Amino acid sequence: MDEIRIDNLKVYAYHGVLEKERKDGQFFYINAVLSLNLQRAGILDDLNASVSYADVCEWIIEMMQEKKCLLIEAVAEKIAIGILKRSEQIMAITLEVRKPEAPIDAEFESVSVCIHRKRHTAYVAFGSNEGDSINLIETGIAALDHDPMCRVVKFSEIYRSIPYGEVKQNDFYNGIMEVETYYEPEELLRMLQVIENEQGRVRTVHWGPRTLDLDIIFYDNLVYDSKTLQIPHPDAHNRDFVLAPMNSLEPNYRHPLLHLTVAEMLANITDTYVLSETKSGSSN
Ligand code: AMP
Repeated sequence: MDEIRIDNLKVYAYHGVLEKERKDGQFFYINAVLSLNLQRAGILDDLNASVSYADVCEWIIEMMQEKKCLLIEAVAEKIAIGILKRSEQIMAITLEVRKPEAPIDAEFESVSVCIHRKRHTAYVAFGSNEGDSINLIETGIAALDHDPMCRVVKFSEIYRSIPYGEVKQNDFYNGIMEVETYYEPEELLRMLQVIENEQGRVRTVHWGPRTLDLDIIFYDNLVYDSKTLQIPHPDAHNRDFVLAPMNSLEPNYRHPLLHLTVAEMLANITDTYVLSETKSGSSN
């Protein structure tokens, strides 16, 4: 990918853990590497096909001076996401915030943090079988869309399905949404859990009733496995109540481990939970 680089943009601002830093201020230096396609701009010799580095410098200065932060990590996060949000053309950014006057009682040149951020596409499944399910799902989708790090691009119809597992309980309402997000996977999971908890979810029985359940099914083409999170969701390929709504959004999405498309996985399903063609609720 092509790059535009900004080196050592010097900005006076008021960030720091010490009160004195937030009162008196100091100089910070910003390095930014913007990844984008520059071929059209090069062929046409037209700034409209590129991103103006003067504009980006202005955005950085404005964001540096908008609000005082304690940490340069917070400064870097705000600037990186702010730039990605301001320009759809920029696919990814590497952003370094350097602080040569940091309050350290030793000889040093500077301290810095450097972060890499990009726009991601996640598919998040929703399910509910307790309370006012349709309303809980719609509120959950709206809550995620209101998060400054997420945008719900589209969502499926809501499907009715019979419960999965041994526990006797009400039928489920299920579906899936496509989310554009700046969260890394673990942060996205944390945010989904905040929304689940806001909707009154209590985890009691595994595969038991739930007011609102939000699961990350796919995240770009990522394969990820930690103590708390597995992507793709380990049961996605077995569940028609995930695959049927996903098939309505992205039938050609390919499972990064099984190398089958959503349409192919759905065709392979033998145990069905979706109640025939019964669908209810709203769609985009
Ligand atoms: P559940 O009760 O089915 O929603 O499971 C929630 C638990 O599964 C959470 O504690 C998560 O840490 C874990 N988990 C693992 N992979 C995922 C995933 N892809 N999406 C959501 N939760 C996950």
